[in-house]
Amino acid sequence: ATPPAYTVPLPPALYGNERLNSRGLDLSDENTLRRLAQVFLAPNPHLTSTQGTPVRNPANRDDIVGHIGFMGTADIESAIQQAQAAFPLWRDTPATQRAEHLERTAELLEADMPRLMALIMREAGKTLANAVAEIREAVDFLRYYAAQARGALQDATPLGPVACISPWNFPLAIFLGQVSAALAVGNTVLAKPAEETPLIAREAICLLHEAGIPQNAVHLIPGEGAAGAQLVGDSRITAVLFTGSTNVARLIQKQLAGRLNSDLTPVPFIAETGGQNALIVDSSALTEQVVADVLASAFDSAGQRCSALRLLCVQEESADRVVTMLQGAMRELRTGTPERPETDVGPVISAEAQTMIADHIATLATQGHRVYQTSLAPEAQSGTFIPPTLIEISAISDLKKEVFGPVLHVLRYRREDISQVMKAINATGYALTFGVHSRIDDTIETLKAQSHAGNIYINRNLVGAVVGVQPFGGHGLSGTGPKAGGPLYLRRLLAQRPALPAE
Ligand code: GLU
Repeated sequence: ATPPAYTVPLPPALYGNERLNSRGLDLSDENTLRRLAQVFLAPNPHLTSTQGTPVRNPANRDDIVGHIGFMGTADIESAIQQAQAAFPLWRDTPATQRAEHLERTAELLEADMPRLMALIMREAGKTLANAVAEIREAVDFLRYYAAQARGALQDATPLGPVACISPWNFPLAIFLGQVSAALAVGNTVLAKPAEETPLIAREAICLLHEAGIPQNAVHLIPGEGAAGAQLVGDSRITAVLFTGSTNVARLIQKQLAGRLNSDLTPVPFIAETGGQNALIVDSSALTEQVVADVLASAFDSAGQRCSALRLLCVQEESADRVVTMLQGAMRELRTGTPERPETDVGPVISAEAQTMIADHIATLATQGHRVYQTSLAPEAQSGTFIPPTLIEISAISDLKKEVFGPVLHVLRYRREDISQVMKAINATGYALTFGVHSRIDDTIETLKAQSHAGNIYINRNLVGAVVGVQPFGGHGLSGTGPKAGGPLYLRRLLAQRPALPAE
């Protein structure tokens, strides 16, 4: 039976919530977390080496968060050799013991939460609330995959060294999600973090080692795109986990097409890429709830989520009301440095990103589309910010590519055109998240059945899928599956030839 509209409960976070950490800190008390994180926000020159490439705070380009040495070809070669040599030992470590190491890592993350939050805020420009959510999600991944590996899969055969290539938008959660999945079932790992966010990744690797995972079972590979390409092209790499752009996923797929694993099966490749995510709002929807959910979906994390809302389709009868109220609510958002606790929207990740998003907005404005843009807080001048922006468009085909930032496109549709709108959404080729706001059960059921999206949300926002409860991932241009944080993910990281144990 369809749940009655507007009562869809938010699932609680699986594990990383409402607990005391090993230092007795209440992890559900965000005020205390904020106060403690504040202590770590100030740069500490004594703690940072100045060797390597500087990593800058996107909210303040003068703040150097730390330095990282990018690896050259020879360093990467030796890491691959070590990961391969370590494989038999890690493979033969009992699954329960591997799981315990991952669970211990989760405890270490929780023990160090304020310091790690501060690093995520400075390196990735995340708000405090987003930094808390990021660590909780990383903890959830570690505990979820550990639990999975202990169960039906404990006697399954791992593959070998696995390359994990992760994005800057979830520099801890997705990074550790990939790495913990590969490690849980006995693979060794070469983890290449995004070049924008290597410092939090380095911390994560240290914690995995501290939790007892052998040094050579998991390696950090800091570098630019070429480092990822070297891993993917190496015949000793037995699987690739990738989250990032559709274009890079295509390149990886082409590189992998040229080879097979030693058991003559294709090299497993899990890609999670972009979206052109839409929300359809009919005239029966409750405007206040629509506005709250649109703000969260389009502007939280400065729109830098694969799941973020890009296209709001509103039935014309209620469009003026929705757009007016939305603009009012957007005006209330503070866009500035995450160090200020009252900030709602932080910076975009880099100057390149800022330019690309600004160009997109300028192009649509020049074409005559109505643009509504909010303003920036005074301190935002020293960082790479884009204020929340709303652009009215007249056809879905006006959207040429995914714009990864706080930009929401609004399309007004006539009631009789709703299935055309749904077709056009599917025709973008992306299929990651999709939402419906309606109080009419028939409309909800019809759109749900027609959507190709991997994650469909009814009368709620489109972001923040919870590990283990809402497996996350899409189809087509949005990725390959299996979904992250779901029951099938680990199976792709096992040797295919020996029969898998029955469920
Ligand atoms: N899992 C995240 C969410 O549901 C998005 C992950 C991503 O941006 O890659 O919002």
